[in-house]
Amino acid sequence: MMQRHLQGSGMTSQRTRDRLIARLIEKGITDERVLEVMRVTPRHIFVDEALASRAYEDTALPIGYNQTISQPYIVARMTELLLENVETLNKVLEIGTGCGYQTAILAQLVGDVYSVERILPLQRKAKIHTELLKLKNIRYSYSDGSWGWEEYAPFDGILVAAAPNSVPEALLQQLAIGGVMIIPVSDQFGYQTLQRITRLESGFHVEDFDPVIFVPFLTGKE
Ligand code: SAH
Repeated sequence: MMQRHLQGSGMTSQRTRDRLIARLIEKGITDERVLEVMRVTPRHIFVDEALASRAYEDTALPIGYNQTISQPYIVARMTELLLENVETLNKVLEIGTGCGYQTAILAQLVGDVYSVERILPLQRKAKIHTELLKLKNIRYSYSDGSWGWEEYAPFDGILVAAAPNSVPEALLQQLAIGGVMIIPVSDQFGYQTLQRITRLESGFHVEDFDPVIFVPFLTGKE
């Protein structure tokens, strides 16, 4: 029964998932590692039963608590930008676990994932989802991600799934030399841009990518 649930059928079948991958390729995703992991990861188990039939549409979907599971294209794009130029990363910090979908994708591509979420019931859901997929290389923290996760720093990669107005200082400090951070940053008018920040010996190198729409990065715990 559980196996059937993971495999899916009809609107959650492998054929439907393959169509999503074709769509991601059309939209410009080229990293084979990312495409393969997204092809085999069942996104429908991360959303409520009532939304399962829409899990392989390329859209964000509600996960409760005013939050959304990120759009597949955005998950693919962020992961591709994070892994560009490297074979893999040992330690990756994720801010904004949500339902754990991006966490699950990362866990299949990097050494260890450290994921921080400020809404406890969402963290609980994420744990259930990633346990269902038998992913063991994930540590979860219920905290305000503005502080990063000092205990395990420095990180080779940091991926932020909510948009702040400026990059939190602690995240910059917890990035290893040579490490990369992927983060949507809001300007003063609320327009968000996906940025890649690389830490060099001499400072930080910032590159701008896609215009994006993320939920706001909030401080404190809920
Ligand atoms: N990748 C997730 C995206 C969830 S939406 C998924 O696909 O499910 C973004 C998440 O960031 C929300 O769950 C929100 O609660 C969380 N978030 C926002 N600000 C945060 C902060 N300061 N610290 C930790 N999590 C935060």
